[in-house]
Formats: sequence, structure tokens, C-alpha cells
Amino acid sequence: MTALAQTRTWESTQREQLKEFGPLLERLRRHEVWAARIDEVAEPTHLDDLLAFPFTTKEDLRAAQAERSSEHPLGAFQLVDTRELSQVTSSSGTTGAPTYFGLTQSDVRRWGARIGDAYRVAGVAPGSVAALTTGMAIVAGGLPYADGIRHAGGTLAWIGGQTTGRMALGMQRLGIDVLVATASFAAHFAERCEQELGVPARELSVRTVIAGGEPGAGVPHIRRAILDAWGATRVSEFMGLGDILPAMWAECEVGQGMHFTAAPDVFVELIDPVTLEHVPWELGATGEAIYTTLLREASPVLRFRSRDQLQITSVECACGLATPTMRCVGRTDDMLIYKAMNVFPSAVREVVLEAASGVLSGTMRIRKDFEAQVRFDDDIPLEVELRDDLDTGAADAALRAASALVRERLRVRVAIEPVPVGVIPVSDYKNALVYAPGSS
Ligand SMILES: [Zn+2]
Repeated sequence: MTALAQTRTWESTQREQLKEFGPLLERLRRHEVWAARIDEVAEPTHLDDLLAFPFTTKEDLRAAQAERSSEHPLGAFQLVDTRELSQVTSSSGTTGAPTYFGLTQSDVRRWGARIGDAYRVAGVAPGSVAALTTGMAIVAGGLPYADGIRHAGGTLAWIGGQTTGRMALGMQRLGIDVLVATASFAAHFAERCEQELGVPARELSVRTVIAGGEPGAGVPHIRRAILDAWGATRVSEFMGLGDILPAMWAECEVGQGMHFTAAPDVFVELIDPVTLEHVPWELGATGEAIYTTLLREASPVLRFRSRDQLQITSVECACGLATPTMRCVGRTDDMLIYKAMNVFPSAVREVVLEAASGVLSGTMRIRKDFEAQVRFDDDIPLEVELRDDLDTGAADAALRAASALVRERLRVRVAIEPVPVGVIPVSDYKNALVYAPGSS
């Protein structure tokens, strides 16, 4: 079973974890870069005491990495000697230059165990043959995921990094029953498998699709499409952060959201991104996740602002795990503003698919005029891929219904532009819901 004791409540787990802040502060104070930051704070005895602690942001991590030295090639937050580093890993760099992190041998072991916990909750067990589709070893979804699959007791089949033809062949020959991929790649790869193998992907042996790296697998229409394409019985959503721990949340067989699986190593807080106050872990609550790595040696991170906006989907789950479940509803950074209304691109996608999934491939993106655009005064341009074999009248009616539903539900206007299948690029790592022509 996972490290999350089932008899414990979520409150008692968090209370127990709070005791680790004392030793963490003591370790951090030995280093100049942290001593200055946490000068004012005392050991917390209550959750609210954490509000006095400074946040760490992605920008802080990047700035600290710019302060490289020959002794500390990973920058000012590298707290151990380089000879103690067992591995270097990197964030994916999809929102800017990648950041690099070192792991000691103990860190590598702890990551393997925690990521293994997440895979166990998501459906990997002894006897599972799990295909890992990323081609990049250094990123969070690379070697750390590979270690996690093995820790969960599964058989790792790392098929990523080859041609699609070879990947498809691996799917068929190795009797893969668990596919690990991003939501968009899972759908795309099913089509490619059929092209390469001449048999529909649903006739292969995949039963569970573990989808992470981007929001999407929690959206009912996207989930249905993945299940149908692979003939699978389960989609488990999966989430983590390279900067903190690559897998911290995983969906159990109940399928109503992702459980927190990173205790005891990581402490999570839920805050209001505007007032910065704590949001209670209650059904329906939304807030930004803040993470502290309590036990990491090489580069601990205190109160990291994830910018991930979570919505709590349950506080008691039928599977028995005593942690809340959630869906990630967007990134605080991705939030767009249409005439003073806030809207997440992921919410637009969900509503459009609800109204028009019958005529859409499921791939879509919002077009900005320039990379940094957040505000829209005119209708938000939304490119959607239309299925090939359609009656144009039916397609037009479905797209009009989708615009109307977006207006009603989200109180923003979108200008839907149909494009043929294949026009919007699908990457095997992360698929952006928003783009600006001319920038990557
Ligand atoms: Zn559960």
C-alpha cells in the first residue's frame, strides 16, 4: 500500500507533516541564500503559522540558477556538494528556459518511492506491463517516471524516443496493459498505432491509460475518447511538478479526481491566489497549490507557488485513501481576461466539447495576437479541428451551439474557426491550448 496510512485523516497527516518544518528550517538556515529569506520565521505549530513564510516562485528558482559557480553548477539553491549528487533532472521548459535540479542518493530513493505510490494509486501493480512514451530521459516524465513504475512493482517498457512505428510495434509485441502518456498524445498515438499496425488500437491489450503532463484527462469528453480509442476500462489522471516532485497526485479506480500521494515528502497548502489566505480542503473549494519539499536534501523548496488552480472533488473517497481528491482546472498564469471576466482556456475547451464533441476531433487552441496577451476585447479566436466526414450544416449548427454555451456558462464570447484535422500540431510532451503565431 502507499505511504498514506489509510486509518489516518487528512488533518492528522498534515499535522504530522507540520513537525518536519522545524528540521527543514534548521537545515536551510545553515545556508546563506536561505538564512536571509527565512530570518523572520519561527517553527510552525499551526497551519496558519505558514502564512508568515516567504513563497518561492519559478522566477526565484531561475534567478538562483543564474548564480552558478564551479562549486554549485545548479545555482544558489544547490545545498549539497556536487560530488553528493546522484542525478540531475530538469523541468520541461514549456513555460520558459528549463530549470535543473540535483538529487542525492537519498532524494533519488525517496522520489522513486513516492512516484511509485502515485503509480500504484493510478493502477500499476505487479503484473502490469507499463509503456512510457516520453522520449526525454532528463525531464520529470523521463527517468523519474521510469523509476516510479518499477517501484510500483510494474514492468517498465520504455518505448518512447523511437519512431512511432517502433513504438506501435512495442505496444503490440510486449502485451502492454498500462499506457503512460499525455492526454493529447494518448489520443494521437491510438490513431498512429492503427496506421502502423493495421489493427485498431482498441484491439491491443491496453486497459489503463495514465494521463499526465497537461490538464485534459479529467474532462469527460476527452476521457471518453481515450477510453474508446484504446478499448480501455480506466483513465487515471496524474500530476506533479519537476521542480518539486514529478508525481504528487494520482487518480484511483473511483475516478472522481486525483489523490495527493506525495506525503510524507511534500506538504501541500491550498491558497486563494489573490488574498494569499488558506482555503479549507472542502468539497468544491478552489485554490492554488503551494508545495514544500520537507525531506529533499539537494535542493529543498519552501512554499513553491505552483500557479496550478485546483478544485476539490471529494474529501472522502470510496477507495479508502484519506486524502482529498481534486482536478486541476487551469493555471493561474493561463487565465485570460475577456472584458473583465476571468476565464481558463481549459474551461473553454470543456464547454466546447460538451456542446460539439460529435463534430470535433477534440484538438483545439486559442490564438493570441502576441505571446504575452492576456486581455481580449473582441471575441476570443478559437481554432477547432473538425472531423473529416461531416455534413456542413450539422457542423455549423454544433459550433453555433458551442459558442452559445460558452457565452452562457463562462460569460465570455469565442469566435470559433473550424480547421481540418492535422492542422494543429500535437506534441508528445505537452500540448498548448493557447498559442501566438510566430512564437513557439
Ligand atoms: Zn480514491
